[in-house]
Amino acid sequence: GPYPVYLQGHVQHGFGRGSKELGIPTANLPEDEVHRACKNLKTGVYFGWAQVNDGPVYDMVMSLGWNPYYKNEKLSGEVHICHEFDHDFYGEDLRVVVLGYIRPERDYSSVDALIYDINVDITVAKNSMSRSAYQKFKLSPFFRS
Ligand code: ADP
Ligand code: MG
Repeated sequence: GPYPVYLQGHVQHGFGRGSKELGIPTANLPEDEVHRACKNLKTGVYFGWAQVNDGPVYDMVMSLGWNPYYKNEKLSGEVHICHEFDHDFYGEDLRVVVLGYIRPERDYSSVDALIYDINVDITVAKNSMSRSAYQKFKLSPFFRS
């Protein structure tokens, strides 16, 4: 398989879909990194590790997909880090190790259904990440210490 896939870039402003208001902020990767990722990964939801600057490494879920805001002509890579930050980190260094696939993209008719799925994704991610095979990537030299 393609894993691990390493992605890195300065956090971009997103498309105002209001995920933060829903309690699930998603940090956007730069477009060139998203395109590089898509050479190895199909669209969908993934899990792995993420770090902001030289901070701690946390679990993450990443959605890789076609952005409805741009009539599905643009790809986006959005990373929800499983940690409550007390500040935003637009423009800052985001490093991501993608370790596995959770599910394909879905079209959501209701926000409730979307939130429900994301919470399932977060649980799947956390369970997977506790497996020792994934733990070693947390110590990868790719992450800043
Ligand atoms: P945008 O449309 O700009 O992506 P969001 O509502 O998705 O707006 O919020 C994303 C921003 O929230 C990130 O760019 C980051 O600066 C901040 N943020 C705070 N906590 C987190 C977190 N746990 N995971 C991801 N981003 C977070
Ligand atoms: Mg976002």
